[in-house]
Amino acid sequence: MTAVSSRPAERLGREEVSAAKPVRLRINEIFLSLQGESRTSGIPTIFVRLTGCPLRCHYCDTEYAFHEGEWQTLPAVIASIRQHGAKHVCVTGGEPLAQRGCAELLKQLCDLGYRVSLETSGAIDISPVDIRVSRVMDLKTPGSGEMDRNLLTNLDCLTENDQVKFVITDRTDYEWARSMLSEHRIPERCEVLFSPSHEQLMPRELAEWVLADQLPVRFQIQLHKYLWGNRRGV
Ligand code: SF4
Repeated sequence: MTAVSSRPAERLGREEVSAAKPVRLRINEIFLSLQGESRTSGIPTIFVRLTGCPLRCHYCDTEYAFHEGEWQTLPAVIASIRQHGAKHVCVTGGEPLAQRGCAELLKQLCDLGYRVSLETSGAIDISPVDIRVSRVMDLKTPGSGEMDRNLLTNLDCLTENDQVKFVITDRTDYEWARSMLSEHRIPERCEVLFSPSHEQLMPRELAEWVLADQLPVRFQIQLHKYLWGNRRGV
C-alpha cells in the first residue's frame, strides 16, 4: 500500500496556487446523462469530469481525461453546472482529488443543495471531502495493474453514505476482492459494488460467483455502456 507520491503537477492536473489565488479547476467536460453506476444508477445526473490522473489502470476508459481540459474558475464551473436542470451532480475524472480545488467544488455544490457524489480511485486521501458527498471509492484489484496504489487508511473514513467499488477483470480479481471484504470488514462500513470490467469479464459469470458465495454486495453493470457504448459525454 502506498499513497500517491509527489509527482509533477502537470501529470496530476494540479495547479500550483497560493492561498490568495481564486480556486480554479481544469475541466475535461461537463454534461448531463443518466448515472450509469452506484446506488443512483439511472437517475439524471450532471457529470463534471476533472482533468488528470496519477494512475494508469489497464482497463481505463477515460484516457482522454489524462491531459485534455481547460482551466476554469470555480464560479464558471458552477455556472456551467447550473445550466443543466438535474439535482444530482457526479464529480469524476480522471482522479478528481488530484486537483486541489476539488474539495471546495464539492463543498459548494452541497451548499447549493445538489445531491453530490464523487468517483475516486482510492489512491488519494478522501478525508478532506465534505461528508455530505457520497464517495464512490475504488479498491484497485490485481487486474487493474494499480493495486499497490490503494490507500487503505481511506477505509477508516467511510460512512454509510459512501460506497466501495471493485472492478473485477477475472476470477483472481474476484477472489482477491472477496478476501478484502472479510479482511477489512468492508460491508460493515458501507455498501460494496462488484462491477465486471467491460469486455473483460462476462457479467453473468460475475453474477453467478456472487450468488454462489452469497456475498453481501451489490452487483452492477455500467448502464451507460449498454445504452451508448464507449462514447464520450454520455
Ligand atoms: S483511476 Fe480511473 S481514470 Fe485513473 S487510470 Fe484508473 S480507471 Fe483511469
